Amino acid sequence: MRVEFKGEEKGYCNICKKNSQLTRDHIPPKGCVKATHVELMTLKNYASLPTKAVISQSGLNIRSICGDCNNNLLGTKYDPELIKLTGKVANILRVNQEQRLLLPETITLTVKPQRLLRSVVGHILAGYLPIPETPPISAPFSDALRNYFLNQSSTISDKIEVYYWLYPSNKQIVINSLGIGSITEECLIASSCLLKFFPLAFWIVWDKPDSFLVNSKKISKDKFKGLDESCELVLELQNILPLDYPEIPDEGRFIIGREDASFLAQPKKPKGFGS
Ligand SMILES: [Zn+2]
Repeated sequence: MRVEFKGEEKGYCNICKKNSQLTRDHIPPKGCVKATHVELMTLKNYASLPTKAVISQSGLNIRSICGDCNNNLLGTKYDPELIKLTGKVANILRVNQEQRLLLPETITLTVKPQRLLRSVVGHILAGYLPIPETPPISAPFSDALRNYFLNQSSTISDKIEVYYWLYPSNKQIVINSLGIGSITEECLIASSCLLKFFPLAFWIVWDKPDSFLVNSKKISKDKFKGLDESCELVLELQNILPLDYPEIPDEGRFIIGREDASFLAQPKKPKGFGS
C-alpha cells in the first residue's frame, strides 16, 4: 500500500479534538534536525520488501493538529526543551567523534521533564492522519496523553512509564499505537507509543506488566513536579539498544500495530546507489 501523508486541510485536531483548520506538524520539531529529502513509509512497508516510499522534500510532517496545539502549545511552550536536550546530546557525540575520544559510559543531563514529555507526547499524538470528518477515537491511553498534554497543571498517569535511550540513527520513527507481546515472559504491553530521531528515542508505555522487561532507563515519576522544575537524567552512551528496538521484535516477542499509526522517514538514498 502506498501511503498518503498529506491529510485534509480542515478536520478534527488529533490532540484537542476541535474541528478547525489543520496545520502540519514536523516530527521531530524543526529545531531538532534539519528537514531534508526523506523517504516516508509505514512500519509495515519498512518491514516488508520492496518498500514503497513516498518522497517528502521537507522531512516527516503530517497535517493533523490545529494551529493552537501546534504553535501556541507545542512550538512555544514545549518544543524548546526537546530541542535543547537533543542539541546537547548531539553536540557531545559530535565533539567526541571529532576529537576521536572514547565516549564516556554515561552522561548526566539536566532537563525540565514536564516540558520535555509534553513535547514528545504532542508529536506522537500528531503522528497519524486524522480520518476525514471523524473526531479522534477515545481510548484510555490516548485520552490520558491528551489530558496530560492539554492541562499543564496535570500530573502524568500512574499507568504511564517513559523510557529513553541513545538512538544514533538518522531514521525518524513515530508510532502512535504499538502493542508488544512476549511469549517467553507470557505477558503483553497492550498500548505504547514511540518517537525516535537522532540522537534520542522515547518509548511511552501504558500499564506495563512487571514481568515485561525493558532494558533502558526511565524517567521516574517522582521527577515530574512543577512545570519548570528540573531533574537530572542519566543517559547511557556505550551500552545502547538495537536501532530497531522495540518496533522490530526480538525472538519470543511480537508486535501489534496499526498501519495508519506508524510512520518512518529516512534520508533518500542517492539514485543508483545500493538497492
Ligand atoms: Zn488542537
